[in-house]
Amino acid sequence: MEDDGTIRSLIGRAAAVLRPHRTRQGRLLGDVGAAVLSADGNIYTGVCVDTPSWGLCAERSALAAMIGRGEYRIDKVVAVWRNEETGRLHVLAPCGVCREFMRQIDDDNLEADVILGGTETRKLRELLPAHAWPEPLEEG
Ligand SMILES: [Zn+2]
Repeated sequence: MEDDGTIRSLIGRAAAVLRPHRTRQGRLLGDVGAAVLSADGNIYTGVCVDTPSWGLCAERSALAAMIGRGEYRIDKVVAVWRNEETGRLHVLAPCGVCREFMRQIDDDNLEADVILGGTETRKLRELLPAHAWPEPLEEG
């Protein structure tokens, strides 16, 4: 697959920002990392921030950095987590909030590749079925 090198590179960039830290309240910060390749070819990274008041996924953290540079189109996105007990790296599928967030930034992001493994991607469209705003009901 021609994108394998890009996928490996993005996974590496996401893994490079992993910096797990447990707060005094026991919440984990930075244990999930994400990398976004923008349509313009730039890479943005971010980490998750899990606080009792509000949680921010790594994907949305990376996307906020992208938006801060005036970019809104995603080419590829990946999030990773390392199991501290086994040392193994896992690719995580984006949660529902992040899937909808990516679509709402720009509808063209439905064509973004969401990396789900070392060689596996799916279009955001496939992970977000029935996303269209519905037609009004026929009443009466
Ligand atoms: Zn999420």
